[in-house]
Amino acid sequence: MESTALKSGKLEDICTGVSVGNVCASSVCREISAISSQNLTPGLYVVATPIGHLGDITIRALCVLANVDKVYCENRRISEKLLVRYGILSNLKTYHEHNAARVRREILEEILSGSRIALISDAGTPAISDPGFKLVVAVIEAGGYVTSIPGPAAVTSALAISGISTDRFLFAGFLNSKSSARRKEVQLLANVPATLLFYEAPHRLSSMLADLSEFLGDRRAVLARELTKKYEECKRGRLTELLEWANKAQIRGEFTIVVAPPTIKEIDDDAIVKRLRYVLTTASPSKAAKQVAEEFGVSKKRTYSICLELKPHKD
Ligand code: SAM
Repeated sequence: MESTALKSGKLEDICTGVSVGNVCASSVCREISAISSQNLTPGLYVVATPIGHLGDITIRALCVLANVDKVYCENRRISEKLLVRYGILSNLKTYHEHNAARVRREILEEILSGSRIALISDAGTPAISDPGFKLVVAVIEAGGYVTSIPGPAAVTSALAISGISTDRFLFAGFLNSKSSARRKEVQLLANVPATLLFYEAPHRLSSMLADLSEFLGDRRAVLARELTKKYEECKRGRLTELLEWANKAQIRGEFTIVVAPPTIKEIDDDAIVKRLRYVLTTASPSKAAKQVAEEFGVSKKRTYSICLELKPHKD
């Protein structure tokens, strides 16, 4: 199918009956027409874009980007590549960390006077370790309409193929780039009973892995690299093995780090005590012990015996 400007209004004529591979292009075009014919409510559209492969964009994202009054992006060069690929002729402006305060005020005024504004970032979902959070808050506080046009994010893509527990996870984003502050942050995460996910720049990967293995123990982990791109790979192993690899290899590309939850014996009593003290303010020892045991994935016997030391038995 030829690239067609979504604003041309002739999509149906062009696509009727065409199929590409096993995909029926006319059905895709019908969907585009149906979505594009709906009026967009004035407000902020937080639109996810690909984390690498330009094909990873939803039909609704394309329609919104083609039909809003303005699209705000982080980096014009990167976003133009995406929009040109799909023949979208949008009014592209920038919103990034250096102009955010001023542009945020302008966007807010535009939205409050009835404009439909899309926000995109260089990759993935805006506001997830990317600009957008303060803008979303500003629009909410001003009573404006905010909606999500969901799609890729490196964190969920990495987790989904990590082979590490997906039941409960904590996304820690980028930790502090200064070693001493980062080491404190890692220590605070040591007892979190969940899979941990981090973003990290390639030049800091080795030192990050060193801190993770020092404070989290030698847990299973995955380095999800260049997801959806030509050199996509997942390196799996213990943190010390991945550190050894990182110390020897030439580290290039984008990495998301996935670390397995602590094993039962790695969870220390202090974390359980802190949580129990809090839960005991509203629950009986028996209920608190059950709840905290489930949260930490440890036995109720263990939490209940800690409970008994904290509070006289009233059950
Ligand atoms: N907003 C994005 C999202 O939704 O995932 C994240 C943007 S953040 C500035 C960029 C970081 O995300 C990179 O440093 C890397 O840690 C991770 N990342 C982005 N693209 C990736 C990819 N294709 N593979 C692995 N990690 C990626």
